[in-house]
Order: sequence, then C-alpha cells, then structure tokens
Amino acid sequence: MPTRSAPGGPRLLLRRLREAMAEPVSAQARLDRIVVQIASNMVAEVCSVYVLRADGRLELFATEGLNREAVHLTTMRADEGLVGLIARNAEPLALSDAQSHPAFAYKPETGEEIYNAFLGVPILRGGNTLGVLVVQNRANRVYAEEEVEVLETIAMLLAEMIASGELQAILRPGAEIAVRRPLALKGSAVAEGVGLGHVVLHQPRVTVTQIVAEDTGKELERLDAALEAMRAGIDQLLDGDGSAGDHREVLETYRMFANDRGWLRRLREAISTGITAEAAVERVQNDARARLQRQTDPYLRERLHDLDDLANRLLHQLTGQSIVAGPESLPDNAVLVARSMGPAALLEYDRKRLRGLVLEDAGGSSHVAIVARSLGVPTVGDVNNITNLVEQGDAIIVDGGAGEVQVRPQPDVESAYREKARLRARRQEQYHQLRDKPAVTRDGETIDLLMNAGLLVDVHHMAEAGVASIGLFRTELQFMLASQFPRLEQQYALYKQVIDATPGCVTFRTLDIGGDKILPYMQTYEEENPALGWRAIRIGLDRPGLLRSQLRALLRAGAGRELRVMFPMVAMVSEFEAAKALVTRELAHLKRHGYETPSLLKLGVMIEVPSLLWQLDELLARADFVSVGSNDLVQYLTAADRDNRRVANRFDALSAPVLRALAHVADNAQRTGKPVTLCGEMGGRPLEAMALVGLGYRAMSMSPASIGPVKAAIMAMHAGELRALMRELLARTDAAASLREPLRAYAAAKGVPL
Ligand code: PEP
Ligand code: MG
Repeated sequence: MPTRSAPGGPRLLLRRLREAMAEPVSAQARLDRIVVQIASNMVAEVCSVYVLRADGRLELFATEGLNREAVHLTTMRADEGLVGLIARNAEPLALSDAQSHPAFAYKPETGEEIYNAFLGVPILRGGNTLGVLVVQNRANRVYAEEEVEVLETIAMLLAEMIASGELQAILRPGAEIAVRRPLALKGSAVAEGVGLGHVVLHQPRVTVTQIVAEDTGKELERLDAALEAMRAGIDQLLDGDGSAGDHREVLETYRMFANDRGWLRRLREAISTGITAEAAVERVQNDARARLQRQTDPYLRERLHDLDDLANRLLHQLTGQSIVAGPESLPDNAVLVARSMGPAALLEYDRKRLRGLVLEDAGGSSHVAIVARSLGVPTVGDVNNITNLVEQGDAIIVDGGAGEVQVRPQPDVESAYREKARLRARRQEQYHQLRDKPAVTRDGETIDLLMNAGLLVDVHHMAEAGVASIGLFRTELQFMLASQFPRLEQQYALYKQVIDATPGCVTFRTLDIGGDKILPYMQTYEEENPALGWRAIRIGLDRPGLLRSQLRALLRAGAGRELRVMFPMVAMVSEFEAAKALVTRELAHLKRHGYETPSLLKLGVMIEVPSLLWQLDELLARADFVSVGSNDLVQYLTAADRDNRRVANRFDALSAPVLRALAHVADNAQRTGKPVTLCGEMGGRPLEAMALVGLGYRAMSMSPASIGPVKAAIMAMHAGELRALMRELLARTDAAASLREPLRAYAAAKGVPL
C-alpha cells in the first residue's frame, strides 16, 4: 500500500502545534485542537492522547474520531490493549491490521472496532512513559517510517505539556497524573540523618524548549559544530596531560559513541523531520533510554549511562549551559541528586545549604560516601534511575539511615519525616549531654571511644563528639581527593595540622589504596579480584618510594610528640617486619639531616586478613598495638565482597564464626598485654559494640556520628554479664547463623538503648 504524504508536511504541522501550545485556552481545548491538527495533517480518521495516571491506568484525554463521550471515561491498565503495550515497552507500534494483534482490546464506548490501521508512540520523558499518542485509519494502511518519526516528535511536545503539570487541572478530583506522582524509593543507607529539601541536579538536565526548527540545514550545521566541539573536548582530555587516569576508560567509551555512525545517523534523521538539533538529541536519547532501561545486563546499563552522559554533553554544547550545577548558586535546603559524584565535587558545595544527597550509582563504601559521612550529609545511594525520576526543584526527603527517598511526598508523609527529624534532633541533644562523660559500663569498665577520620574537616568534629583521640586516620583520602600525588610537604602539612588539632593521640594508617580505592592519577592494572589484589601494604612494599615519603612526612609531623602508625592489609608478619625496616631507615635519614623525631613511636598492624589470626603470637610479640579492621576482616572471612550489593549483607558480622575470630584476637591481646582496638564500622553500631564489649574489647574507633549512640548504650551495659553471655552464646553448638536476635533480646531486657 503506498504511503500518503501529509498535506503541508510535518514541518507545518509542528509549527501549528507549537502555536496551539502557546494559545491562551484551557488545557482541554488545547489538547482537542492538537488531536484535530494531527489527524488532519496525517490523513488519519482518529487521533487520541492517553495519559498515564498515578494509579497506573492510561486515561483517554482527547480524541478526534473516537466517541468524544469516552474522553476521561475510558481508561485501561498498563497491561491492557495495544496502548498498554506501547506504554509498557516504550516503543512505537505500527500495524496495518490492529484487530488481529493478540494484544488488541476492544472498548465498546470508543467505537474503535471499525478502524484497522493503528500507529501509536509512547510519550516519553527521561526514559519514562507519560502517555501514549495514537493515530488510526479505517483502511489497512502501512504507516511510513517518517510518519512514525513525526508522531514521536509530536509526542515530545506533549511530554512537555504533561510534565508541566497543566493537565492535572482537567482530571477528576482525586486522580493524579503519573509524572508528578509521589514516589517512595529504596536505596542503600550511606550516611545517617533525615533531610527535607528540594532537588538540585548535580548535572542539570537541559530542558529542550525549542523543538520546532526554523531551518533544517542550519540545525544540521549546529549539530555538526557541537559534535566537533564535543569530540575535541574529549580528545583533549584523553590526549592532554595524561591526568585522565581512571576516567580514561569512560572517555574512551565517549569517544567511541561520539563517532558511532548509528547514533549520528539517528540524530541527523531526527533533525530532518523538522526539529532542532537539541530536540533531536533529546529524542534519540529518549529512545535509547527507554530501550536500555529495561535491560538487566549491567554492562548494557552501564552503556546507557555513558550514552546519557554523552547526550548531556552534547545538549550543553548546543545550548551553551554549564554542565554541572554551580556550587555557588545552591539554594537553601538543597538535596543534591546525581548519578555519581566524586568526593572532591561534593566538597565544593556549601555544606550549610545541603540537606541531603541521593546517588544512583554509589553505595555505602564509595569515596563520596566517606566524604558525605564526614560532612554529616544524610545520603542514600544505589537509587535506581533517580536522576530521571525527579525534576529540578521537586520536594524530596532523604532518610540516610533507612536508605529511603521520598520524591514529591504527600503532606502526611512529609509530616511523618519532619517528626522523625525532630526526634533525631532530640536524641542528638541527649547524646550531646553525654559529651563530657566517660563511656563507663554499669560495673565500672571504661571503654575508650576514639574517632575515625580522614579529612581535616573530621578533626573539627572531635570536640562536638567529645572525643580526644583518633583511632584510625585514613591517609588515603588526601590522595584520593588530589589531582596528583600529594607531595611530601603537602602530606606533612596535613598530618601536622591533624596532630596539632587533636588533644589526644592520632593513629595514622599508611596509604590503603588499590582494590576499590583508586587514585585517578595513578596507573591502574586490570585485576580479576581487586580485593585480593595489589593493594595497601603490598603496593607500599613493592613501591617503597611512595611508602617511604609518607613515613618521612609522618615522622616529621610527629616531631617531639607521640606518633602512632599502623599498616593496612598485612597478611604475613614478615610484611610488618619489612615495613618496620623502612621506618627505621627513614628515622635514621631524618636524624642524619638534623630533624627532630617523635618522642615516642608506636608501630601497629591492622588485623584485616584472616591469615593473621594464626600468627598472633609472632605478631603480638613484634607490634606495639593492633587494630581490627572488621570491614575487611569480615569480607575476607566470609568471602563476601563488601562493595557488592548482592553479597555484602549476606553474612552477619554477629555470627558465631566472625565473633569467635574477634574473640581470639581479644583474648590473645589481653594475654600478651598488647593494646587492641577495633576500627571497622561494626564498632559504631550499638548492638555490635555491646557484643564487642562482651568479647573483651575496651577500645573502639568509629565515625563521629556513632559516638553518642554507642556511648549511651555502653553506659547501660554490664561488662561482666556480657562476658558471660558471649561465652555462653559462642559455646553453643546449636549456634544459629546469627547471634543478633539473642543479643537484641538481651539488650531489650536490660534496657540497653540500640
Ligand atoms: C576496615 O577494613 O575495617 C577498615 C577500618 O579499613 P577500611 O574500611 O578503610 O578498609
Ligand atoms: Mg580495611
């Protein structure tokens, strides 16, 4: 069957529609005019618009050709009929004989059984379906590819209209359109706290308002120029000073896409339907998003992100807008929403205005998560597709402790969270009152609470938290935030500032990089199992230059005072011996050059690799102290990657095997009189801290936010009773997979606040 060309062509239609959009009439009148225009221009007997409601039903909002009485009465589920199929698949559907399609559903009130040919396209925004636009013909006609394209372009105009909220006014009271509906999203808990505010997109989307082009030739030229500029930018980053580092792979992917013929062809084809270059980028990206979003393959989803980034870059290039939100123009009560974000980018925003952070990609142990916790910004990570589900300025609530995000919350939800935030503030106030009290159990055992830190900003939390000493200073954070290796002088300056600002003692951990902690400027090696790979002390001993300069900076910073240094990821006592030899050498070097050295030097080892559990005699004879890194120790004991969402929480740290290992360390330390601390995250959780007290731990280092809750719990504990309880629970041969429940029951019975 030959295709009919629309009278006046698609460009005229688009212009007419644009005019209809601007007319000062009601939303219903506007929609009615639009469907008439489309039907007449496309020589179709029917044109209908269906809008997705918040309850998941598609409602007929306007029609030319079907019974008008059906408007706002006919609705269908998203799994019903051809319209439902389009909404679900987010793909166009063209049929010459619609009634023979298995998904065809008949709605008698519309009178549509007399139509045979059917063309429907999804109305998309940010890869989400907002509705469906349909044309129908009586004859069994075949719709041409260009007609599908034209309809998709019109759907973009409608998407704009729907997203503006204009259609809400013509809905029955109580009903709501999907695009503005409240969403309750689940992610992973990254940084504790409740924050209420408004969305600020870290990488603001460009909203394309100019859809219809004046001159297609010019638009093609604009596209070419923008592509050229974008490619040049990427090439420059790649070929420039080599600082692209770990972003290199991402940039290579961009370069590949930027030269991808399929992508370029689709962009050009879209422009040739009469739309602007930016509208073409948006449309092609909408299609790609809709297609890829349904993919479960992580590799393909990752490619979607790359494509999204690229399209975004191109849009910014075309519209001349800046690619990231200007940190200086942050409104009050801002909740940052980003797909991913580097720790340095977060630090650029004004903390005072930040109420929360929501990330699509990052989980709890990412670097930005560590910074978010340091800054005390309530943060939820791993929230699927969040950047496409919110609009700039939307009301949003972040519950960092529960890992929940509420988008456009209903008033009752909002007030519930306000109450939660108030309660939390009250509890903080109670913790604050405990600030100057020591953490002593009911039976008089003092538990030393120390703080984990890694940034200078952390140090300022000490007074607030009522802590005198730092039990773990993660020196790699300075390296991770820098754009090149911090020089010895810079390291020295930071360490000295930290020591000066700390009333008690600081335990510095030497560089713990590798694995998930990657320095953007350091050459990386592809590793099958990075957690078991070349990291921490292994790099330190293989590249002694790096470790030696750090040790030199530390020894100088500790001049005339007590200095404590510990080494991460030691698996064999011989590695500690080798590290000690480097320290001795650096000390000698400094003395030779007339530098003052620390008055007291204590060298320790982190117990995070299980092999050390069977070298405790040798280790404790040589180390001045040990500190259990339970994050890694549990990861290696259970062979469950702490960064892999599928397995990270598979095994409970409060299970008998883990607790027995921890008891073994505590018992041996006590027997040999060597100080032992625990500095993994588990010490910062009151229930876990209670178990640790029962195992004999008397010093724990944790994030500042945990100090209050853990101290309050300790003050309600009885160490002697806990010792007996742990002994009994761990001796049981019928030990359940986790001791969490019996411990929780004990805490509840004894009034230990958790
Ligand atoms: C640990 O592994 O428990 C630890 C404290 O070190 P990090 O979390 O920095 O690996
Ligand atoms: Mg560790």
